[in-house]
Amino acid sequence: MQQFSALRSLECLTMHCGELNHHMNFLSIWQLWRDTQPSNTSRLHLIITAQKPLPREELSQKFNQNNYSPEITEQLLAQYPPAISGVHRLIFRDDRLTLDLWFGDVVDDLKTSSITSNVSETPSSFIVIGAGIAGFSMTEALTRRGYAVTLIEQEKPLSGASGNPCALLLSKLPKLNRVSHNLQTMGALTTARWWGNWVNDVVISTGALLKIDEDDLEKIKDYPTDVVRVMNAHEATQHSGITCPTDYMFMPCAVALSPKAIRQHVLSSPLVTLIKASAAQLIRNEHDSTWMVLDPDQKIIAQAHQVIVANAKDSVTLCPTLPPLTVIRGQISWLPMPSTSPQCSIGYGGYTTTFQQQVLLGSSFVRDDINTDLRLNEHEFNLNLFKEEFPQFAENLPPITTWQGRASLRALPRDSMPVVGQVPQMNDVFVLAGLGSKGFSYAPLCAELLAAQILNEALPMTDQLAYTIRPDRFIKKERIRKPYYTPPKI
Ligand SMILES: Cc1cc2nc3c(=O)[nH]c(=O)nc-3n(C[C@H](O)[C@H](O)[C@H](O)COP(=O)(O)OP(=O)(O)OC[C@H]3O[C@@H](n4cnc5c(N)ncnc54)[C@H](O)[C@@H]3O)c2cc1C
Repeated sequence: MQQFSALRSLECLTMHCGELNHHMNFLSIWQLWRDTQPSNTSRLHLIITAQKPLPREELSQKFNQNNYSPEITEQLLAQYPPAISGVHRLIFRDDRLTLDLWFGDVVDDLKTSSITSNVSETPSSFIVIGAGIAGFSMTEALTRRGYAVTLIEQEKPLSGASGNPCALLLSKLPKLNRVSHNLQTMGALTTARWWGNWVNDVVISTGALLKIDEDDLEKIKDYPTDVVRVMNAHEATQHSGITCPTDYMFMPCAVALSPKAIRQHVLSSPLVTLIKASAAQLIRNEHDSTWMVLDPDQKIIAQAHQVIVANAKDSVTLCPTLPPLTVIRGQISWLPMPSTSPQCSIGYGGYTTTFQQQVLLGSSFVRDDINTDLRLNEHEFNLNLFKEEFPQFAENLPPITTWQGRASLRALPRDSMPVVGQVPQMNDVFVLAGLGSKGFSYAPLCAELLAAQILNEALPMTDQLAYTIRPDRFIKKERIRKPYYTPPKI
């Protein structure tokens, strides 16, 4: 494979390697890439399909029967997703290798030109505005590809909604035949895999219980057990260490993450320049096709060819063509762990998880309130949600006047889906915002999508899914009116 050594910095070579179950040629390509990759920032991107994906155990057996390099197969198995339909992107940072597994019903949606190589022909320099999980995920996606990023943040990084001490990736599942088009589930699976592999100490805990109802039972019945299984009240009590009144679903892939560990990882890249400033305006410099980011005094903060707006509810101030975002205030509460405490995260309408010997309870929902003061009545709200489910345990908690907490603002458009892509009528300005209550599930996958869109790479999801979150989806297309019919004059 002569091509590998000739790859230039920032260049990405994409190869379609066919059906996973039929041949394992991608393993030899991966090995060759390891042995002959040039020492620059070029990357290899392999795409593999499987109409009927193998579960991890079966793939592992297949590897054992053959003479594949154990170093590679172990790495693959460590990141291998559950065998459910969807596009699963695996990223091996140290190898500069991306592996897309297109499983099940999405295989027909894959565009297959067998080998493409691309390096952005237009000059690229990047500004990201906002240092929350959206801005961090975007910065990570770009620096991992070798691009320098200027990150602008008006306060401290993680001072917005992303700055809670712990973020839980736990949500209900759709029916199995819908999962490939469910951004939240695909995002949560992806996030857990990526950050867990890249960042030390980012995963605070793994596995969670979620309250179940009749609808859920029907929805989850066909899922493999490495995604979800039912635990009866007794099993759930044993697993969680506190008395569970009913059956629960257990989701082994759910994780609680440390936002601070993500911050540390992203900001430690030598390719990142963090500037503390408030971005008030974007002005196009037609002369050199760059964007200037100005502060409230009209001073230039930074200038670059591409700008990514990731400042949550304030994105529309910088880009008036973006959809307005509704603001929902939320407060979490935390207190020192009592002697008997939940041993795992639990969702029950509210949620509880643990970090650094503290129990965290979440979280209130207050619409159209942009204040972020700490409130006793919202501690009480969090306690009451918890009490309804676990009355015995709640009795032993210290008084709420001693609790700590943090309030911040969720921002979401009217369809509650993220807003990701090119900003209408602003060339080379892009947005990643509107992440609502599930930002940690959405952001890394959406950032990977946006990086691929900007750099013309293969997308980490179907075109159809990417289309549902495009920023211009609320703009009504003008209908061309037909002229009224007027009968000819006789
Ligand atoms: C109480 C609560 C609990 C939550 N729990 C979870 C959870 O467990 N799991 C989960 O997945 N999600 C959770 N969420 C949702 C999640 O926190 C958000 O979806 C996510 O943090 C949004 O990330 P963001 O980067 O878009 O916004 P933010 O984190 O708000 O970041 C935006 C950043 O932009 C900066 N900024 C704004 N304007 C400018 C400007 N003009 N110039 C420069 N910088 C600017 C801000 O200072 C801020 O740092 C929770 C939300 C709340 C409120």
